[in-house]
Amino acid sequence: MKAMIKVEIPLDVAQKCVKCGLCKSVCPSYHGEEGSYARGRLALAEMVAKGELPLSEEVTRQWNECAMCRRCEWICPNDVHYKEIFVKARELQEKELGRDLISRAGLKSLEFMQSEAGKKIIKALGKITRFLPREIKTPLPTGAVKFMPKPDGEPFGLRGKTFKADKEQGRLLFFTGCMIDVFYGETGKSVVKLMNKLGYTVVVPQDIKCCGAPHLYHGNTSAFEKLRDHNLKEMDRYEFDAIVVACPTCGGALSEDYGREWKVYDFAELIASSQGNLSFKAQGDKLTFHVPCHSYTAMKVNPKVFYKVMERVEGAQVRKAEKDQSCCGFAGLWSIKNPKLSEKVQREKIEDFANTEADYILTTCPGCVLQLRDGVKKFKKPQKVLHLADYLARSMD
Ligand code: SF4
Ligand code: SF4
Repeated sequence: MKAMIKVEIPLDVAQKCVKCGLCKSVCPSYHGEEGSYARGRLALAEMVAKGELPLSEEVTRQWNECAMCRRCEWICPNDVHYKEIFVKARELQEKELGRDLISRAGLKSLEFMQSEAGKKIIKALGKITRFLPREIKTPLPTGAVKFMPKPDGEPFGLRGKTFKADKEQGRLLFFTGCMIDVFYGETGKSVVKLMNKLGYTVVVPQDIKCCGAPHLYHGNTSAFEKLRDHNLKEMDRYEFDAIVVACPTCGGALSEDYGREWKVYDFAELIASSQGNLSFKAQGDKLTFHVPCHSYTAMKVNPKVFYKVMERVEGAQVRKAEKDQSCCGFAGLWSIKNPKLSEKVQREKIEDFANTEADYILTTCPGCVLQLRDGVKKFKKPQKVLHLADYLARSMD
């Protein structure tokens, strides 16, 4: 006999949806079917929760196509907490039907990367591939082909170090996140340089694992809780006034899901609110910006903050793209599992940026950097893609 599965989709939250359909206008996965955006997905979740509909493959197909960007939640006039419902819906899906191979492999590899054995392998790969180009065209098992970054030459290079500011006015714990640790070490160094200049001493904990957000968004709550508890224990060993991040997905998890009353800042927020001691110079660079979904949907950073920071670069010109806040089509494993949908979203994004004729596409999420670099290469656009921290660190006066 099948064991009882205990997962409850919060009906009271789902029933707050008044079916206005506003979320359709911002959903990157919408492709004409009612089940391909939040209103339809919520209706399906409600029917499953009430026992009116079996958890069929058709239902889970619609759920799996959701990128968990949470733009629906951000625009919803009725404060429907989409994430709260979908973490539970996906947990139920996982417990009843199991998890697909790609998600299983992807989530496990995030855990493995931060293990001692994983770190050794990544360090060796970083050395072996040091003469290869920064991105390598990689065929993926779902038929997608992506320009993937190779491991950094010094992966996990910041771990366990304290970077002291000259005149310390505060201590920040830098939660680097998997992508910076493994692929984008330069971005980590840039954040340290910027924060030190602002007067913050930066502490990078030694033994941090994945923040767990990918696991939580996939409904794997037990793996998330394990990662969270490990990270909390490690973070508690250090003294700090606030946390700084350069990945809004990590930042969202730390501020929403770790159960602590701490302050979590995107590095750009600290620059935007600083006075004087940080200035930047450029020689006529034209800049445009991609606002990562989780920066405003999960971390609740006002996108104006990023523009305020870019406007501080003397000699640069900021050109706002029409759809600067739309999804880039990455969303972690989503882009691998839904290659056609992802590429459609990515193409629109890249075309929008091409229209600005900017020299640089800047952003504040390493995942978005990966996706946008892949996009400019794929669609043969001349723009350079950089994490905002790297652009600023290079332009420091
Ligand atoms: S915007 Fe909110 S209330 Fe309107 S349909 Fe979407 S989830 Fe429901
Ligand atoms: S989380 Fe994003 S992809 Fe999913 S329904 Fe909401 S807007 Fe659409």
